[in-house]
Amino acid sequence: MAKIFNNKISLSFDIYGCPNMCKNCWIGHPKHNKMNVNEVISTFSNIKNEQNSKKYYNAKIEYIDVGFREPHYGDDYKKLYNRVDEVNNCVLEVDSKFELISLWRLGNDSNYIKWIRERGIKRAQLKVFGLEKTNDFFYGKKGAHQELINGTNILLENGIVPRWQVYLNKMGINELRGVLELTKVLNVEKRVQELGENFNIKGAPYDSTGAGYDNNKFRIEKKDLVKIPSEIINIASLKTEKELIKKIINNDDKTVMPNNHNLWFYITSNWDVYPNFMGIAPWWKLGNLKSNSWKSILNTYVENNNKGLRIMNEITTKELIQKCGDKNSEKIFSGVGQFEEYLVEKYCREIN
Ligand code: SF4
Repeated sequence: MAKIFNNKISLSFDIYGCPNMCKNCWIGHPKHNKMNVNEVISTFSNIKNEQNSKKYYNAKIEYIDVGFREPHYGDDYKKLYNRVDEVNNCVLEVDSKFELISLWRLGNDSNYIKWIRERGIKRAQLKVFGLEKTNDFFYGKKGAHQELINGTNILLENGIVPRWQVYLNKMGINELRGVLELTKVLNVEKRVQELGENFNIKGAPYDSTGAGYDNNKFRIEKKDLVKIPSEIINIASLKTEKELIKKIINNDDKTVMPNNHNLWFYITSNWDVYPNFMGIAPWWKLGNLKSNSWKSILNTYVENNNKGLRIMNEITTKELIQKCGDKNSEKIFSGVGQFEEYLVEKYCREIN
């Protein structure tokens, strides 16, 4: 049985889609149909009432979220988030310490920054892949690099601390010194210190879920590690597939399902439901809120009734390695968790 961690489930609806086409998008880039906000909120309330009164599997529905992709993206974001705050009885991004904001809106809506600040958001994560060409490529649009620079400046000028999440990749690996140079040109470190914090710039290999799976061709290898400045990440923390396989083989056998997890169900704009382990793909689908009852969707989750959940709950990591691992691979991962995710995704896609 799949666990309902801490007996809580929250629901996130893809009300607006996303203006970006990031190559590392864990969701992929499903077609988006505009959702009716009233219908979304009433659907959430109905599910919450049903679940919290019938107490299936002793679980309760906790939050609603509407930032399934780029948060705050729709033009009526102020009105929408007011309604969502009322339903949640809190400001979810602040309470849950989410650092996600709309980079697009930051550059296109002069009222947005004031709203973020008033909302209580104090930090915002921005993605970096390298310099201009590389950033535009991985964000999937021309001008994204400039948007990143403008966004960083707007945040700093308005008292919000930017955090740069650097996704390590083959295209940008020789540009990391240039990325650090850029932070100097923007004087980010000093400006963040003036806000009472230290600038947080952190490198990581990207995940393999959704569109990110195709990015494995850009995954860095052991020979690339010497090119990473220590300010971006301590390379000792990064491991090759070969090293991770050795480590896992020498440990106890277990499945990939974590012991704890903040469980959300994601609802796409055509009302398909997916658990938030890895992307939006047929092998993760739990059902559809227009054609299946809430109870049957929940049953599909608890009974591991799709390929992804079966693999996570019923196949051990050692078995996954036998089927999908490469004990000679020098590809780099952040650790066991990220590697296991890659194995599950590979198994789902390539093994029947
Ligand atoms: S990663 Fe986020 S911003 Fe990029 S395409 Fe996916 S949802 Fe949009």
